[in-house]
Amino acid sequence: MADKKLKLGVYWGASCGGCDISTLEIAEKILKVIEIADIVLWPCIADFKYDDVRKYPDGYIDVCLWNGGIRNSETREIAELLRKKSKVLVAYGACSSFGGIPSLANLYTKEDIFERAYKTTESTDNPDGIYPQTSYTVPEGELKLPEFYGSVYRLKDVVDVDYTMPGCPPTGKQTWNVIEAIATGKLPPKGSVVGVGDKTVCDECPFEKQTEGVRIERFKRPHLARPDLTPKTELKDKPQCLLEQGFVCVGSATRSGCEAQCLNANMPCRGCYGPAKDVDDQGAKAASAIGSLIDTKGDVKRGEEIAAQIVDPVGTFYRFGLANSVLRRKVPSPKEQT
Ligand code: SF4
Ligand code: SF4
Ligand code: SF4
Repeated sequence: MADKKLKLGVYWGASCGGCDISTLEIAEKILKVIEIADIVLWPCIADFKYDDVRKYPDGYIDVCLWNGGIRNSETREIAELLRKKSKVLVAYGACSSFGGIPSLANLYTKEDIFERAYKTTESTDNPDGIYPQTSYTVPEGELKLPEFYGSVYRLKDVVDVDYTMPGCPPTGKQTWNVIEAIATGKLPPKGSVVGVGDKTVCDECPFEKQTEGVRIERFKRPHLARPDLTPKTELKDKPQCLLEQGFVCVGSATRSGCEAQCLNANMPCRGCYGPAKDVDDQGAKAASAIGSLIDTKGDVKRGEEIAAQIVDPVGTFYRFGLANSVLRRKVPSPKEQT
């Protein structure tokens, strides 16, 4: 791979576009990418047609970076197409790796989502309750729309994925490290998580945990309270861990690799690098770590009241990966299933 120009593809599924933009965070190194690679698909920057991609021979694309989850039949169809056309398929970013923020929609049914999006939003005027249809006949012929799935899925739920690269979005530095590894053929074994570290965000954090005796009596929200940033001699001249100060931080359940960039801006970690190595369920791990710090004083009710101060627990603990959790989604009630 090192001796010839790579054929590189970049594609977006159920994505916000941020991952496409993040690839430009490699800044001037983008010129190096153009030196080593021909871009053969990147809908965000040029008007590539699916039919052109269908005409590529199988395995034509050396590496395809796929961002975004699988939300509808179109994203699934293109995932299957790009799997066939790519030698190496990389799940790039939290959405393709874990479902990302869009997979919080797995708390709702397809019907709930359609009702809100097409009927009850404050800016919607749809008195006849008309929803998108997969097929509609007009005088000129049949118009088709992709089928909207009942859940958001990870890329690996629909096709075989060679590498996973977390982050919302991945940092420019990690993106470049992975591109370099691809260009020099130094990628780790298939199935590896790339562009990350082996530790947790806590290991890269500029805040320091007190070893014992800390209990949380009140949870605070970053836009409503200021953290104490004073370095403490007993904490290696660092400020005290934000979680111990009462700010919900999921760094202990999250994979390192971002250089703790939120913590360096005095914000708690939200978990976008996904579960730490050997952690199966990031949200459960974070909830358990945080729960063990609650100052119950041996009183369950008091513990529950303190825990209830955490606003939007599912969104807090599974912000980037409900589709990657053990539960994957809220199970619809029998009524919702009909
Ligand atoms: S991982 Fe984050 S930046 Fe990338 S597409 Fe998803 S929401 Fe956007
Ligand atoms: S819990 Fe958060 S603030 Fe505390 S050490 Fe870990 S990453 Fe840093
Ligand atoms: S500190 Fe946490 S939320 Fe922030 S970039 Fe790193 S992994 Fe993502």
